[in-house]
Amino acid sequence: MALIVQKFGGSSLATAEKIKKVAARVVAVKRQNHQVVVVVSAMGKTTDNLIALARQVHHQPPGRELDLLLATGEMVSVALMSMAIEELGEEAEGFPGYFAGIKTDSVHTKARIMKIDPARIRKELEAGKIVVVAGFQGLGPENIITTLGRGGSDLTAIALAASLKADLCEIYTDVPGVFTADPHRIPGARLIRCLAYEEMLEMASTGAKVMQSRAVEFAKKYQVVFSVKSTFEEGEGTMVKEIEVQEGAVVSSVSVDENQAKISVFRVPDRPGIAAKLFQALGSENINVDMIVQNVGRDNHADISFTVNLTDLEKALSLTREVAGCLGAERVSADDDIAKVSIIGIGMMNHPGVAGRMFQALARAGVNIEMISTSEIKISCVVRRADAQKSLEAAHREFIEKN
Ligand code: ADP
Ligand code: ASP
Ligand code: MG
Repeated sequence: MALIVQKFGGSSLATAEKIKKVAARVVAVKRQNHQVVVVVSAMGKTTDNLIALARQVHHQPPGRELDLLLATGEMVSVALMSMAIEELGEEAEGFPGYFAGIKTDSVHTKARIMKIDPARIRKELEAGKIVVVAGFQGLGPENIITTLGRGGSDLTAIALAASLKADLCEIYTDVPGVFTADPHRIPGARLIRCLAYEEMLEMASTGAKVMQSRAVEFAKKYQVVFSVKSTFEEGEGTMVKEIEVQEGAVVSSVSVDENQAKISVFRVPDRPGIAAKLFQALGSENINVDMIVQNVGRDNHADISFTVNLTDLEKALSLTREVAGCLGAERVSADDDIAKVSIIGIGMMNHPGVAGRMFQALARAGVNIEMISTSEIKISCVVRRADAQKSLEAAHREFIEKN
């Protein structure tokens, strides 16, 4: 008997028919004498619709109430999935994330998991039930409901797999696994059989939304081996685990993030402590800053540009204006018409010249590069959003199709 955690994403649960199909799948696994924990996302585009609804009544919905609202999406799925399983003759026990022992901090809409107490889940599994857990939600201090950031059901599944010491953790979605690029954007993208945590992490944080980046971070930290598979097609999918450097392809995948914005601060005094003040202020409001570029100072002044997630733009801009004003900067501007294109591969560490090839490929496609950042296993370029697709195609052609 194995303990298996299976997570089903929103597109796999978009209709009652799909929920019934997933339930049948889960029941079949249970009847092979396994213990099954099912983590479910909200149906279809429910979360997007709830966010849009909140914005109709408030220009910047307060986090506490937004989390109350968003948590309802996954609750619907838990109830329906449990019913569908019962209809097939198995016993199910459905839990909201906050009754499943998932304790978080108090940062609404992107709460971090602090502790998991799986005792209640274990008890139900031992009683022979299929446990169904609402993904994406937890319980914050003083018993407030929190959510774990977009795509957070992935994190629920990985975290439960870690705390239950599950034998298998399977992430089921609408594509057959992780590809060399989003298969909905690059039809020639290839399925990747095996990926290192680091690569999956860089992919997730550069726009490949097939896995939530925090979920991958958690998996790496607790060494949870997981697979990404299609809900409705057979196949082994992609296995994500620890891999030695020499096994990796030079570039294993290409991704694009169109949810980015750039903020520039012009003519800030060029002296120690200025960048610290600005980025500490953003950090204390939980705003993630990705790329940062500071130009060479002239007459003791410098310009600083950085990118943030589009959803944080408004908040980041007003904070930056406030801090820039205090620092004596000349002006602050925002640009929400950008995209970030990245190439990723652990093999890159041992292969010089990859950056040059990337810039050449973009140049041949007539794309202007506005910002660059590199890590040992990633190169990212900021381009105009209108150039995103052709940049993605050019990078995929250069590094994947040519090989
Ligand atoms: P779920 O609802 O199952 O959580 P998501 O929509 O969050 O699914 O993630 C799956 C989607 O991720 C796919 O439909 C695909 O368009 C997108 N995606 C982006 N990059 C990749 C990639 N490299 N490999 C596979 N899918 C990708
Ligand atoms: N429903 C949430 C979202 O759309 C969580 C998830 O799907 O993983 O972001
Ligand atoms: Mg998802």
